[in-house]
Amino acid sequence: MVRDNEKWKARKREWTTRNRQKITDNKKRYVARNIKYVNSIKAIPCADCGKEHSSFVMDFDHVSGNKEGVISQMARRPVGLEKLKKEIAKCEVVCSNCHRYRTNANKQVSVSMRSSNP
Ligand SMILES: [Zn+2]
Repeated sequence: MVRDNEKWKARKREWTTRNRQKITDNKKRYVARNIKYVNSIKAIPCADCGKEHSSFVMDFDHVSGNKEGVISQMARRPVGLEKLKKEIAKCEVVCSNCHRYRTNANKQVSVSMRSSNP
């Protein structure tokens, strides 16, 4: 069966107009849920220094897999919880200070590897 694209688009536009408030409310609800979930994951001691900090001090350090997004940015969009969990599974939770030390150590390794392989 061939779908009448123009007719379908018009119906979608009309549905979106009728449900605009509902769509906005759902987006806000998903973002609030995502932020709450991410903060609950961050409520653990730092993997490196072992100290507990407020959620805004804690970072997700990607340690495996391909980084598909920055978790704090993903959480502020109405993405699905499964997508968020999949990205979080690639990370360790560390405080921002330890995260910087890790990142700097990785850069040092990267620089030394480049200088030994001209
Ligand atoms: Zn730390």
